Amino acid sequence: MSQPMIAILGAGQLGRMLGLAAARMGVACRFLDPAESPPAGVVGEVVGAEFDDRKAIDVLLRGAAPLTIEFENVPAAAVEYAARSVATYPSAAALRVTQCRASEKRVFAECGVPTNRTAAWDPGSQPADELRAAIDAIGLPVVVKTQYNGYDGKFQWVLRSESDLEKFLGDTHRLPLIVEEFVPFWRELSIIGARRPGGQTAFYPLVENTHAGGILRRTVAPAPKVTPELQARAEGYARALMERLGYVGVMALELFEAGTPGSGVLLANEIAPRVHNSGHWTIEGARTSQFENHVRAILDLPLGETAAVGSCVMVNLIGVEPDRAAVLAIPGASYHWYGKAVRAGRKVGHVTVWGDDAGVVAERAAAVERLAGS
Ligand code: AMP
Repeated sequence: MSQPMIAILGAGQLGRMLGLAAARMGVACRFLDPAESPPAGVVGEVVGAEFDDRKAIDVLLRGAAPLTIEFENVPAAAVEYAARSVATYPSAAALRVTQCRASEKRVFAECGVPTNRTAAWDPGSQPADELRAAIDAIGLPVVVKTQYNGYDGKFQWVLRSESDLEKFLGDTHRLPLIVEEFVPFWRELSIIGARRPGGQTAFYPLVENTHAGGILRRTVAPAPKVTPELQARAEGYARALMERLGYVGVMALELFEAGTPGSGVLLANEIAPRVHNSGHWTIEGARTSQFENHVRAILDLPLGETAAVGSCVMVNLIGVEPDRAAVLAIPGASYHWYGKAVRAGRKVGHVTVWGDDAGVVAERAAAVERLAGS
C-alpha cells in the first residue's frame, strides 16, 4: 500500500504535532509556510513560499490529499485554489466564516448558539460617529476587536470608562471592527470535537482555560464542576456549528461560562477551525489525541475514543525555556518544545502534567509554572 500524504497550509507547532501523530499511522505530511525553519520542518517536507503562491500550492499538492490547515489566517483564496484539485478540510467557505468575527457571530445566531451582544462597524461604509453609536448601543464596558486577523488577544481593546472611550475614538480606525459586550465570566471553557465527512462526530470533555493578556496560559482537563448537562449543551453547540459549516476535521469552540458559578450559562466566544492549544493535553491525557483524530477525520477513518484518562494540566511556555531536567524531574510532566527562537510573548512550548489525582496534578503543575515563571 502506498503511503498517504496530507497537505497542510502552515508549518507551526500545530503542524509539527499533526505530523508526529500522522507519522505514527504511516501518513506523511507536506507543509507550505513562508517562515524560515518552521517548527513542522522536523516532521515533513516544507515548501517555503507565501500561502497565496499558486505554483507553490501545486507543489504542495503533488501526490498529497486532502489539504488541511494549521493556521486559520491563511488566505481563503489559497484553500479555494487547492479545492480545484483536492478536498479541503475546512472548506474555503467555512474558513471565511471563522476568519471574520462578525460572520462568526451571525452563524452562532443562525445555529441558536448563545453569544454575547455585538455590533459591527465597517469604516468602508460607515462614518466614524457610527462607531460611537455602536459602542453606545452595547454600553460600557466593551471589548472592541478587529473583525479579521485577530488571535491570542491581538488587535483588541477593552474600554471600561468614558476616558478609555474618548482615547479610543481619538485614534483613527481603518479596519472593520466588532464591538462586544464585556462578559463578566467566571471561567473560560472550550470544547473540541472531530467530524468525519459522513457526519460522525466525537467530542472531548470540556476543559477550563486561563488566559492572561489574551494568551492561553493553562488548561485544566477535564474541567472541574462539569455536569453531564453542561457537557451535552457544549457538544450540541459545537455539533450544530459543524453541521452548518459542513465541517470536517477537528474544531474548537471557545466558550465563556457566564453568570454565577454553576449556573451553566455558556456563551460562545469564537471558533478555531483547526486543532487547538486547549487540546494539547489530549496527547497524554486522552485515549486518542486531537491531532490523531484530525488526521483520522480528514482521511475519513473511524474516529478514536475521546475519553480522558486521568487528569491533566497543560502549561504553556510563553517566551521562556525552563530547564528541561528540572521540569522532567516532576512526576507526570511531559515537555513539548516547538523548536522556535524564544521571544517575549511567543508560545515556544508547553508542559503537560498527567496523573490519576487532580489535586496532585494541580500541585505539580504549580511547580511547573514556578519553573516557567508563569
Ligand atoms: P479572543 O481573541 O476573542 O479569543 O479573546 C482573547 C481573550 O480575551 C479571551 O479568551 C478572554 O479571556 C478575553 N475576552 C475576549 N472577549 C471578551 C469579552 N467579550 N468579554 C470578556 N473577556 C473577553
